[in-house]
Amino acid sequence: MESFSKDGVTHTVDRPFFIVWWMSYFDFRALTTPWDVVYYASLDVMNMDSVVKHEQCHVEQMRREGKMTFLFRYCLAWYRYGYVNNPYEIEARDASEKIIKDNDEK
Ligand SMILES: [Zn+2]
Repeated sequence: MESFSKDGVTHTVDRPFFIVWWMSYFDFRALTTPWDVVYYASLDVMNMDSVVKHEQCHVEQMRREGKMTFLFRYCLAWYRYGYVNNPYEIEARDASEKIIKDNDEK
C-alpha cells in the first residue's frame, strides 16, 4: 500500500521533490505538513505504528492550535530548544512511545 487515509489525513511515500529534499536535509523519516499529508521516507517507515502515531500527534497539535499558529510556535520552539527538546517533539515522542509500550504488552 503506497498510501492510506485516516482522520482526513493522507499518509504516503509518494513525495514531491521539495519534500524529498527537505526530509533528507533534516534527516527526517517522516514529515507532517499543513496540507493534511504525512510523507514517509519508505514503506517500511510508513508501516511502523510508532512513527504513524508520532506524526498523528503532530496532526493533533496542528488542529489544536491552528495550522499557522502551530507552525510559528513549532519553529520558534525548534530555534529555542533544538529539535530533540522541542516540546512538540517531546509530546509526539511520548505518544509514539506509548504505542511501543502497548504493543510490547500485547
Ligand atoms: Zn516529530
